[in-house]
Amino acid sequence: MTGVLNSNLAERRGAALSRGVGVMTGVYADQARNAEIWDVEGRRYIDFASGIAVVNTGHCHPRIVEAVRAQLDRFTHTCHQVVPYENYVALAERLNALVPGEGEKKTVFLTTGAEAVENAVKIARAATGRSAVIAFTGGFHGRTFMGMSLTGKVFPYKAGFGAMAGDVYHAPFPVPLHGISTEASLAALDQILKSDLDPARVAAILLEPVQGEGGFYPAPPAFMAALRAICDKHGMLLIADEVQTGFARTGRCFAMEHHDVAADLTTMAKSLAGGFPLAAVTGRSDLMDAPQAGGLGGTYGGNPLAIAAAHAVLDIIEDEGLCDRANLLGARLKQRLESLREKVPEIADIRGPGFMNAVEFNQPDSDQPNPEFANTVRARALERGLILLTCGVRANVIRFLAPITIEDAVFNEAMDVIEETLLASHAAQRGTRETAAS
Ligand code: PMP
Repeated sequence: MTGVLNSNLAERRGAALSRGVGVMTGVYADQARNAEIWDVEGRRYIDFASGIAVVNTGHCHPRIVEAVRAQLDRFTHTCHQVVPYENYVALAERLNALVPGEGEKKTVFLTTGAEAVENAVKIARAATGRSAVIAFTGGFHGRTFMGMSLTGKVFPYKAGFGAMAGDVYHAPFPVPLHGISTEASLAALDQILKSDLDPARVAAILLEPVQGEGGFYPAPPAFMAALRAICDKHGMLLIADEVQTGFARTGRCFAMEHHDVAADLTTMAKSLAGGFPLAAVTGRSDLMDAPQAGGLGGTYGGNPLAIAAAHAVLDIIEDEGLCDRANLLGARLKQRLESLREKVPEIADIRGPGFMNAVEFNQPDSDQPNPEFANTVRARALERGLILLTCGVRANVIRFLAPITIEDAVFNEAMDVIEETLLASHAAQRGTRETAAS
């Protein structure tokens, strides 16, 4: 307990900070351990957000804290472009070996996911001598100018921010649940390449192997294979944005491991360094070497503290078997949600590989989205001490992103809260409908 009230902080925040940065809870953090957060008033929460998929290895994992502390005692910043250091090189070597794809690979370190995407596009442009990029509806790639331009959702990401970066095209992402099949998506892409955009001008096709902010929709394997074939046919590069899917979340270290084909360039951030700002692009060496020296980088990219944390993250994923654990926890969560389908007719779909799971809500017995229900579930869960996030192009999805290291007892407690919350939200919505009808 700090003696500070959440409500006071909310007031100060409103006065001091740009409205442009939204906040999803009114809870101000004081401390956090693994899957639990305590707020400034001493109330405990179970964290099923993980800082938006950042602490897959839990809050303050002792091995990460220890690794960062050891680095803190040695040096905190030299800028790798001025005075380089060994752990940066060693992490690149590890990522080059880990990231899916045959052959020699190289890496560049950056600070945020958006920056990783920006740099992947720069590398693709330098390597191909072409400028156009194809991305997908519902995709999310960050809030910088190129990141926002590539993002396939206008509100709140693009609205009011003027002209987008040029030479970006969006094809529909396949979501069979919404009536967009893989075939329909590929046909629309083909149409773009026939009516709008010369394939010989396309540097890259960029996508998330499982859409994150867009709603946790996995790219169907046949779709990914078709994109790979289109890229190979026309000399385009395939970029996998693994910023949200990476580092054991989907039950494999990278979501692309669920596919038979590999990307040419992979973007990473979020859980790479367990809460320290670090991002990377890893890809085929010949492509990664296309930009001239000085064309890539940044003052903080590959900060030594973040690099030290990332080494610990990779060790933990391996030593604690987090890919297997993600599969186990995800299976339990999905089973629990399945058991509620009959009692909660708003549940339209339960999905997601590994522990990257989501539940989508429609109006009962209809295919119309039910964003109010998703929002009610999120708010009621918070009242019961469970932090959940919504997502989705229709805002009708709850996503579950707990640390993969969550203890069984805490996980089971969260499952009970989810069940109670879904049942109570259904009862409340039914009550509202009945009142409206009477
Ligand atoms: N790509 C994807 C797939 C993401 O989920 C995000 C963040 N939600 C980003 C890029 C941008 O990352 P950052 O917020 O670190 O810039």
